[in-house]
Order: sequence, then C-alpha cells, then structure tokens
Amino acid sequence: MIFDGDQLMALEDKFLASYALKSKDSKGRMHLEKADLTRTPFQKDRDRIIHSRAFRRLKMKTQVFVAHHGDHFRTRLTHTLEAAQISRDISRSLGLNEDLAEAITLAHDLGHTPFGHAGEEALDELLQPFGLSFEHNEQSRRIVEELEHVYPDFRGLNLTHEVRQGLMKHQTPWDQPDKEFQKASLEAQVANLADEIAYNNHDTDDALRAGLITEDDLGELMIWQTAAKQVVETYGKIENSYIRLSRTVSKMIGLMIHDLIKTSNPEGGEIKFSKAQTKMNRELKSFLTDRFYFHENVLELSKRGQNIIRSLFENYHNHPDNLPKEEQASIKNGTQLEIVIKDYIAGMTDEFAEQEWERVLQ
Ligand code: MG
Repeated sequence: MIFDGDQLMALEDKFLASYALKSKDSKGRMHLEKADLTRTPFQKDRDRIIHSRAFRRLKMKTQVFVAHHGDHFRTRLTHTLEAAQISRDISRSLGLNEDLAEAITLAHDLGHTPFGHAGEEALDELLQPFGLSFEHNEQSRRIVEELEHVYPDFRGLNLTHEVRQGLMKHQTPWDQPDKEFQKASLEAQVANLADEIAYNNHDTDDALRAGLITEDDLGELMIWQTAAKQVVETYGKIENSYIRLSRTVSKMIGLMIHDLIKTSNPEGGEIKFSKAQTKMNRELKSFLTDRFYFHENVLELSKRGQNIIRSLFENYHNHPDNLPKEEQASIKNGTQLEIVIKDYIAGMTDEFAEQEWERVLQ
C-alpha cells in the first residue's frame, strides 16, 4: 500500500492529538505550490532544510569546542541531530506533529556563526556602529527566507508559515535571559526544550571527555546524583569509566525527557518541566557555565575565534573586492555592505573562516 500526501494528512487526523498542529491547518507558504505527491507540507520542509547548503555547513561549526580539537566532540550538526531526535521522541509521546517539531529543530541553529556564541558576540559588536545587530535565530530565519537561493522564481526555501514561525520563536534563556517568551506552537516549544536537553547533556559529556570537569565535580549536582543512582540500580557498579559515564549521561537525558512528557499540559498549551526538574536543570546549567563555558581553555579558543571574525570583517570592509563575486554583486544591487559581510561571515564554517583569515591577511 502506498500513502500519498493527502492520505498522510488524513492519518495525522487519526493519530495526532486534537491539540497537535496538523498539516491541513497550515497557513501555507509565501509562494503557492502544488501539493506534494508523497509528503505532507511539514515533511517537505524538513527535507528542504536537510538539503540546504546552510545545513551542510553545520558539520564544521563549533558547538562549544573548536571542531578540530577532537573527532568526538559535538559540532552544530551533531547537536542539531541529537536535538531533533529528542524533539521527535517528545512529540510522538505527546501526540504532537513530529514532522513539524523535527523541521523546526533541524533548522533552529542554521544561523549560527563560526566559533559558537563567541563568534555571534563578536559579529554583533562589529555591526552595532552601523545600526545593525546579529542574533542567530533571526539569521536562521533570514537563511530560510532569503539567503538560500535554489528556486527560479523566488529566494529562500518557501517553508510553511508554521516552521518559519517556530524559528522566530526559538529563544532560549541562554540567548536572551531577560526576555519573556511569546506563546509558540506546542511543536515549537518542544523544539526549544529539546535543544536545551540536548546541549545540557552533550556539553556535560564533552566537558568530561575533554578532562575539563571530573565525575567527582558532577557528583555535587542533584541531576547527576539521581542519574548515577539509577545507573547502579540498573547495571550494578560499572568499573569501566567510559561506559559508566555514557550510561549516566544517557540516564540524565531520559530523566529530563520523561519529566517533560509527564509534566507538560498540551491541552493547556504548555510544554514544561516540573519545578523540581527545572531546579536541577538550572543547577546543571550554572555548573556548565562556570566550569565549562568559562573555562580558560574554552575562553582562549573563543578569543581566537573572535579575533578571526574581527580581522575578516575589517578586511572585507576596507577591501570589498576580497569578497566573492556573488557577494560583490549583492553590493552592486544595493544591499548594504555591512549586511553582505555579516551574511558572508555568519555562513562560514570554523575551518573556512580560518583559511579565509590566512588568505586575506597575506
Ligand atoms: Mg541549538
């Protein structure tokens, strides 16, 4: 039996909860398109995101670490895949639209600069004197609406309103600690919290593997104690530290996901952790901030990345002829020079930024 797009949409009615955002209720795309033969609109969006250039570049962008400092550390790409997997699991359990949550999650970090949050900060500072700013969520939206150019009649990927909206609403306390979040779709809320679950856990794992924190350090944390206890209950005492740590981080992910599924009130429009879990997450986050994100080794690499971004920006600003032809054409067509430079630098991978830095400084 083969399901066509219409039948798949009908299945959503049958299998998704009443509060899920169904494809048939989508507000559609900016440019009208024929319905797809074999996919729902949100499936199609997901596929467009995966096939985009910006998505492929995530593989060489730093999460926290500089990508080439070890093959096993997370990059933006592996972070995105881990977050998408968590997003899908949560959505399926809650009867939400898995395709929509997955598409939002896969696109949520497309706008990140090279060199992680440090790179974003540097670029933002460089733009301020020109009345501009940089914010990675806004840049993700700009990529899918404007910068990807693969259709003859329009720019952007022409994604559905719901996926684009999900990107705009993707704000985390990390990004804007003082901001109240606007009400987002349930699927966008899931994407947002799946992102948080992914990075809190894989950053713990990366920091441990890099030797910047120890298992004893983590022993101070409630969430680690709870997970470690459950590991012993399940497996007994595990001597091999690699396996023990892997199991403990995995338990932490499980604890967070289960708590979120249990506590959320989708009928009331709310995806959330319990109070106890929120407290544990906060404790873990502040531990990671002090001990990992602000660790001198990490800061040193961040500073190096920021210097590269500054040098590149200044160089292109003084010598726009150092930009590729496509970017020079945008300037001739009237796009502000600083916006062209911003889009170009933000799109770079860490590796390309390094190479370009060497090239322009020669
Ligand atoms: Mg993320």
